[in-house]
Amino acid sequence: MIKILDKITADGIAAGEVIERPASVVKELIENSLDAGASIIHCAIEQGGIKKITISDNGCGMTPEDAELAFARHATSKLSQISDLDHIITMGFRGEALASIAAVAKVRLRTRRIGAEQGHEVIIEGGKIISTQSVGCPEGTQIEVRDLFFNVPARYKFLKRDQTEQGYIADLISRLALARADISFRLTAKQKDIIHTPGNNNLLSAIYVLYGRETAEAMVEVNYQLEPIKINGYITTPQVTRGNRSRQVVFVNGRNISSKVVNAAINEASKTWFMKGKFPSLVINLEIPLNLVDVNVHPQKTEVRFWDEQIVFRAVYHSLIEALETGATAIKGQFESKKNNTVEPLVLNEKQETTVSTAKQTEFDYQPQSTNSLQTEYNYTNERLYPVEQAQAFIKYQDQTSEKSEDQTTNLRQITNEDTTSELAYLLEARLIGQVFQTYILLEFQDNFIIIDQHAAHERIIYEQLRDHYQESKKEPFPKQLLLTPLSMELTAHELSLVEENLAEFEHLGFELDIFGDNTILIRTVPSMIRDVKDPISAIQVLVDSLVDQSFFREDKYDQILHGISCKAAVKANDNLSFSEMKQLLNDLISLKNPFHCPHGRPLIINLQQTDLEKLFKRIV
Ligand code: ADP
Ligand code: MG
Repeated sequence: MIKILDKITADGIAAGEVIERPASVVKELIENSLDAGASIIHCAIEQGGIKKITISDNGCGMTPEDAELAFARHATSKLSQISDLDHIITMGFRGEALASIAAVAKVRLRTRRIGAEQGHEVIIEGGKIISTQSVGCPEGTQIEVRDLFFNVPARYKFLKRDQTEQGYIADLISRLALARADISFRLTAKQKDIIHTPGNNNLLSAIYVLYGRETAEAMVEVNYQLEPIKINGYITTPQVTRGNRSRQVVFVNGRNISSKVVNAAINEASKTWFMKGKFPSLVINLEIPLNLVDVNVHPQKTEVRFWDEQIVFRAVYHSLIEALETGATAIKGQFESKKNNTVEPLVLNEKQETTVSTAKQTEFDYQPQSTNSLQTEYNYTNERLYPVEQAQAFIKYQDQTSEKSEDQTTNLRQITNEDTTSELAYLLEARLIGQVFQTYILLEFQDNFIIIDQHAAHERIIYEQLRDHYQESKKEPFPKQLLLTPLSMELTAHELSLVEENLAEFEHLGFELDIFGDNTILIRTVPSMIRDVKDPISAIQVLVDSLVDQSFFREDKYDQILHGISCKAAVKANDNLSFSEMKQLLNDLISLKNPFHCPHGRPLIINLQQTDLEKLFKRIV
C-alpha cells in the first residue's frame, strides 16, 4: 500500500500540484492548525524551510489513533480514487496534505489532545512509518518537516536560494496574518523573529507589524456596503505610496484571492488619487454570500468567479474612493492647522491662499536686498490680492497663451533640446531673484525672465551624474559617502530577504545597508556624486521595488531605475533653498550634457521675455 501511495504522490508532485516548495508545506500545515482551532501558530524554519520547518500550534491536538490515521487514512482514500486521477488532480489533492508531505520529507509529528495525560509521536520518512510512541509534549500539535525532497532530486533541483524560499514563506504568513488578525502568527529563522503578530483581532495592529509604522499611520479605514457585499479593511492615503502592487491584499470571505475585476476596480479608484506608477497599500476583505462566489482553488493561486462582476466592481471602487476622500479631508485638516501654526503674523490677511514663509530665512547664509524689497511690495499689494477664482482664471489664461505661443513658436519660449550647453552659461551672469512657491528659481538676464523648476533641474543633474558613472565605469563601484546618522527603513519580510541577498549590489550603487532587526535596515552611505541626497529612504525603495518586480538586474531597466533614484534624491517642490544652494544648483546645471529636460521629459527652464510680460499686462498688444 505504501508503494502505491508513493507512486501517486510522486505523480502529484510531478504534476506540480501539491508540494512544490517549502511554502506549500507551510501553507498546508498552517491550514490544518487553523482547522484545529489554534489561536497561536509558530513556524520556525531553517535554510528557507528546505532543511527544516517546524509548525507548532495550540489547537485541539489528535488522539494517538488519529495521529497515525492522519497519514494512513489518505492513502486509503487515494486508492479508492485511483481510477479517477483527473478528479484527484483537480481537487488539488485536498485531504492529502500530510500524506503528500510525508512522502517527500522526513516528518515527526507530536500531538496531545487538550487535557490528555500524554502525547503521541509519529515519525515517518519518505512515506514510511518509522516509529510511533507515547511522549510528553505540550497540548496541541507540533509537526517537524526535515530535508524536503530528499528523495525527489528533480523537485529539489527547482528550489531557489534559501532567502528566496524564506521570502515565499514570509509572504504567505503575512497574508494569513492579515486574513486572521485574531490569530497570533510567528515566523522565526535562525532564532530571529521575522514576523510576530499580536493576534488581538485588530487588523491595523497586524498591518503595523507587517508593513511598518509609516504605512499603518497613513491608512484610512474602508467600510462599505453594497447589497449583498460588505467590504472592510484599510488603504493608504497618497502620503505613502509604493512602486508596485505587492502590498495590495484582497480577501473574499477571508480567503486570499486574485481577481481581475477586483484589481480593475482598485486600479480605477487609485488612478484618481495616485500618480502614475504609484500604488496604495491596501488590505480589504469582501464578504459575499457563499452561493454567489465560485472559488476555484489551485494550490498556488486562488481564482474566484463572481455571480455579478458589475456589482463587485462598483462595491470595491466606491469603498476605496469613499475611504480616500475621508482620508483626504483628514490630511487637509492636518495641513491647514500646521500651516496656521507656522505662518508669521506679518504675513497677510486671512483670505490669502498662498503664504510667504519667512520662518527659514534666518538659515540663509546670504540674504540679498531683493528679498526685502519683494516683501514690501507684497505687503503693499496685499489688499488687492486676487481671490482664488481670479487666480485660477489667470493661470488658465497663461496656459492658453502658452499653447498659442507654442503653436506660433513666438515669445514664451521653452528652451529645447537643440540648444547647446554653452548657451546656458549666461545663467551665471543672470541676477538671481530668488525662489517662488519654494519650487521655482527666478532669474533675470537682460530682457529675459528665467524660471527654473528646482526639482526637475536637480533630478536631471543627479541622473546624469549617476548615468555617466554607470556608463563609463560599469564595473567600478559607485563612490559613497557616509551619512552622519544612519537612517532606518522598514521593509516587509519578503523585501528584507531580497535586500539581504543583494547587499553587495546595493553597496555597488553607493548604498551601504545593514540588516537591523526583523523588518528594518539601516542606510549607512549614499552615492557621493550626489551632493545632498534628499530622500535616501525613497531612493532605496525604488531599488527594493525593482527587486520585487525583478527588474533590478535587467540592463534595459537600468535607466528607469536611475531615473527613480534621481527623482528621490533631488530637492522637491516645496523645499526651501538658500541662495547658495540655488547657486550651486545653477552651477551644476550649466555643466550638464542635457540641461534642458528632466528625465521625465518635462522642461526644466522657461524663458519669458520682457515683451511677454508686457503683453500679459496689456501694455502692448
Ligand atoms: P485534511 O486537512 O484535508 O483533512 P490533511 O492531510 O491536511 O488533510 O490532515 C489530515 C487530518 O489530520 C486532518 O483531517 C486532521 O484530522 C488531522 N490534523 C492535521 N493537522 C492537525 C493539527 N495541526 N491539529 C489537529 N489535527 C490535525
Ligand atoms: Mg489539511
